[in-house]
Amino acid sequence: MQTLTTIKQLQEFRKSLVGSVGFVPTMGALHNGHKSLIDSSIKQNDFTMVSIFVNPTQFAPNEDLDKYPRSVTQDLQMCEDCGVSAVFLPESTQLYSDDEITLNPPKLMGYVLEGFIRPSHFSGVLQVVLKLLNLTMPHNAYFGRKDAQQVLIIKQLARQFFLSTNIIDCPIVRDSDGLALSSRNIYLSSTERQNALSLSKSIKAVELSVKNGLDDTKKLRDIALQELKNVQIEYANFFNHKLEPQTRIQNGNSIFLVAAKVGNTRLLDNAWL
Ligand code: AMP
Repeated sequence: MQTLTTIKQLQEFRKSLVGSVGFVPTMGALHNGHKSLIDSSIKQNDFTMVSIFVNPTQFAPNEDLDKYPRSVTQDLQMCEDCGVSAVFLPESTQLYSDDEITLNPPKLMGYVLEGFIRPSHFSGVLQVVLKLLNLTMPHNAYFGRKDAQQVLIIKQLARQFFLSTNIIDCPIVRDSDGLALSSRNIYLSSTERQNALSLSKSIKAVELSVKNGLDDTKKLRDIALQELKNVQIEYANFFNHKLEPQTRIQNGNSIFLVAAKVGNTRLLDNAWL
């Protein structure tokens, strides 16, 4: 496995590849959620490239950029064990100049939910993802449904800017207790972690009720709220894939999205219905 740190190294490596390329962008502190994206890419492509970059432009000044978990040595080992061809590990100065062109997220999808709570977030995400896709030129790029709004907006980026990469959304990976895996879970104390389980309990309750035929999102929301105890709910609601609110579930075009604070940690979870 190659470890690439400069744009030049990355471009030379990319040029040398003959065959299909899958790409998995990450911010590191890799866990089994990331691994599932990497494994999908390895199965579906001749070569897999992973990036590890804690992208400063998607963090607001009051957020956790400086204390975001980092574990590069273990991350590289995981990538190597999975059969990754190359990891791109750039410094910020490799990707950014001091007078940057920026992208505005779409007005309807980009400023609701996460975009409402973190108004500069998706601009930073779009900026780094466009740079990374242009550099790695993958046939397929893998994103987790865990960040549902992110993957839906990135699909729009690929569509609207005529990128030739397929954006592939991958299922949420959970811990054995149900908690959706996240690099930020290490911020949770043991009591907070217990309280955090109410998010996945609400997801399970919604999935079960939908399976049993309930499609009224107001009733489904009430069922979810009964589970969301001991957390500070930011949003818990039903949307279609354009992120418009829904009153009825539409099979294959509904997502239940929940965000809540547990102590100082923001957690996201969702169900694609
Ligand atoms: P991050 O390192 O948090 O930026 O995440 C990198 C990619 O991994 C994103 O596409 C995330 O949606 C995805 N991801 C993070 N956690 C999970 C999870 N529990 N299950 C599936 N994908 C995940």
